[in-house]
Amino acid sequence: MKVTSSLAIALAFGATIVAAQQGGPPDTPAVTVRGQVFTPRTILARNMGTEEDQTTAFTPHKIVGNVYYVGMRTLSSFLIVTPAGNILINSTYERNVPAIKKSVEQLGFKFEDIRILLGTHAHGDHQEGDAVVKQLTGAQVVAMAEDVPALQNMRPGGKDHPIDRQIKHGDTVTLGGTTLTAHLTPGHTRGATTWTMQAQEGGKPYNVVFASSLRAPNTLTPAIVAEFEGTFKAFRALPCDVPLGDHPAQYDMQARHSYIGKEGVLNPFIAGHACGEEADVQEAMFRAQLAQHPGGATAR
Ligand SMILES: [Zn+2]
Ligand SMILES: [Zn+2]
Repeated sequence: MKVTSSLAIALAFGATIVAAQQGGPPDTPAVTVRGQVFTPRTILARNMGTEEDQTTAFTPHKIVGNVYYVGMRTLSSFLIVTPAGNILINSTYERNVPAIKKSVEQLGFKFEDIRILLGTHAHGDHQEGDAVVKQLTGAQVVAMAEDVPALQNMRPGGKDHPIDRQIKHGDTVTLGGTTLTAHLTPGHTRGATTWTMQAQEGGKPYNVVFASSLRAPNTLTPAIVAEFEGTFKAFRALPCDVPLGDHPAQYDMQARHSYIGKEGVLNPFIAGHACGEEADVQEAMFRAQLAQHPGGATAR
């Protein structure tokens, strides 16, 4: 009896140590948004999926106008096609670059026609592949100034992170008649960038929002709290008809994709009503974490 219970305690204790060593987010606080319960741990799991999800291409597809999806099941890459060459948003992990190239080619475009490489934020799951994309295409790599230090520390295989143009909030990137505007939406990283553009479809303009992650880190410092307070407000004010995000779960990509071609559905990605949904989840969690640690301390 005694042995059994000590063993159970030891096992439980061991599991706690493993969880802490892995550095995953905690399973508290829990928030309910539109009937769905989220914790920091389930949000991260939703975003990342399995290792296989992070490295397996999702069916490449047209989103709206000249905007296409060329990413993995759980890591977004977007291709914007123009007569003067193409723009790629997010290279994801370096090991995914061949799969992104294949998706671009499956859509009938050339990977080498990528002229400009943009990113949403300086984490490896979104921008680790920048150096290889630069090598393969010669694209101009654009980076938000506040994310430059973190990008410079991203050196897969010892390669320097390429940065050809540093931008600030409100700057634009134009190629072949398409202009993207950079919005600094910090909190998740210092230079987290949400990109916006207008796409034309059926003779109508649509405001496309390529959102950076709005997920709060486990540790909320006063500086990060101030960043998020500004970010949620600014993000919600962006004109938006087509909500996208750097993890597909942020805009229900797989569910929306399944509606393509269904009777009565014009374009499932044109969903202005859904533009604030991801911000609702992330802001609810941010406020719950703040309530748990009002001084802006660690949630771990
Ligand atoms: Zn991130
Ligand atoms: Zn991410």
